[in-house]
Amino acid sequence: MTSKAWLSLGANIGDPPAQLAEALRRIDAEEHVHITKRSSVIITKAWGKTDQPDFANMAIEVETSLKPLELLDVLQAIELAMGRVRKEVWGPRLIDIDILAYDQIEMISPRLTLPHPYAHEREFVLNPLAEISPSVNQWLTRRVHSAN
Ligand code: ADP
Ligand code: MG
Repeated sequence: MTSKAWLSLGANIGDPPAQLAEALRRIDAEEHVHITKRSSVIITKAWGKTDQPDFANMAIEVETSLKPLELLDVLQAIELAMGRVRKEVWGPRLIDIDILAYDQIEMISPRLTLPHPYAHEREFVLNPLAEISPSVNQWLTRRVHSAN
């Protein structure tokens, strides 16, 4: 049985669009995860400390037979693999992959909160999500308003 999940990808060091492309390649190479939709890549100027590269963000929809925590394991392994800097040193991560939602599941646990607790506050998350799934975008936005 497969489920759907909506992921947010972001990068702001290295070559951000290339990092997103590499993350997509690795996600789709996973046996139990298939990318079914992808948003465009949005580029956002870094604010505050402006001498850093622009941010690149996008959202994707995946079909998966993995349970939520298994999916998180796979995505975190990709983050780690891609975050490894030359030589033995572990540098800052080059990619952030968050699970925005997994089916209609609502859960709070130490490693995973669904839907993602901050997604609804971030336009660079919501706008790409709206491109690929207006209904999930509306669910995330509305459930926050009704909880207040
Ligand atoms: P951030 O995404 O806030 O920049 P991290 O990527 O370092 O920071 O994530 C911190 C922790 O958030 C992860 O170790 C993960 O266990 C937890 N987490 C909780 N809910 C989620 C979610 N929906 N998607 C991804 N990570 C999550
Ligand atoms: Mg994260």
